Amino acid sequence: MDFPTYLASTRWPAFPNVSILRGDQIHPIVSGNKLFKLSPFLRAAQASEAVPLISVGGRFSNHLHALAFAGYEMNLQTLGLVRGFENQVETPTLRDCRDWGMTIQFIRPEHYKSRYANTFWEPWLARFPNAMRIDEGGWSSSAIEASQTWWDYISPETDIVIVPVGSGSTLAGIVKGAPKGIRVIGVPSFKDSTNYAALRAQLAAVGVEETQYELWTEFLDTGFGKLSEEVKQFKFRFESLTDIPLDVVYTAKMLFAVEKMLLSRPALQQKTITAIHTGGLQGNRSAN
Ligand SMILES: *Cc1c(COP(=O)(O)O)cnc(C)c1O
Repeated sequence: MDFPTYLASTRWPAFPNVSILRGDQIHPIVSGNKLFKLSPFLRAAQASEAVPLISVGGRFSNHLHALAFAGYEMNLQTLGLVRGFENQVETPTLRDCRDWGMTIQFIRPEHYKSRYANTFWEPWLARFPNAMRIDEGGWSSSAIEASQTWWDYISPETDIVIVPVGSGSTLAGIVKGAPKGIRVIGVPSFKDSTNYAALRAQLAAVGVEETQYELWTEFLDTGFGKLSEEVKQFKFRFESLTDIPLDVVYTAKMLFAVEKMLLSRPALQQKTITAIHTGGLQGNRSAN
């Protein structure tokens, strides 16, 4: 699966200094940042004949959805460890994953919490000695490296780049690839009572220092995958005005925060801003 040679940017009519970089158009299925993040794993798996590729995610996971399709395209076995229970209604996301040949194993939520620990992975790696482990969201130095690819599509006039944050891999890659003097801002998709200390520590561990980015967190009043009424209305309004579809987990929250900031800090309206649409539209089926 090749990276696109060009990605469109669309101006936000209400704020013409803001362009939305259309990562949702990177690939019909492996949308947004997932193609960049998965590509190093896919290439390594092909080269070393590692199978299956094992990863973790929720029942609407964009990451597992992208991995399942990429595995199908490249003839690589995939195994998804999914937070939930066998007897829950099958989500459209998991139905697609299975159609593309991914094996699904449900993991109870209390056990899923330990998904970052080696002890979580050991039984799976013992059972599949040739397997490749892919952490949640693809978090790894190679995925972070590959996320610098975004810079191939960002206009050189840009002063500020804004991106939604899940695992932080995309933010880390963008910070690492940023030309001097450009501000990079992340908008988390999840609420965090410890004020994102764990995220900041994770980023610091891969050499991304707090001085190199900002997090806009003050407009987030709901948890991961949940939208407040205000953000829902914003999403509807934005989509009808721009014809750019947003996803409910990441991009709607990010652009909601961007609008709030532009209104409360007019100086930002003098800057050339690129807001990255990271795709993920399949996840909207969680809202039906
Ligand atoms: C996975 C995903 C993200 C999160 O990216 P990270 O690199 O994990 O921070 C953001 N937006 C969308 C649409 C996604 O699917």
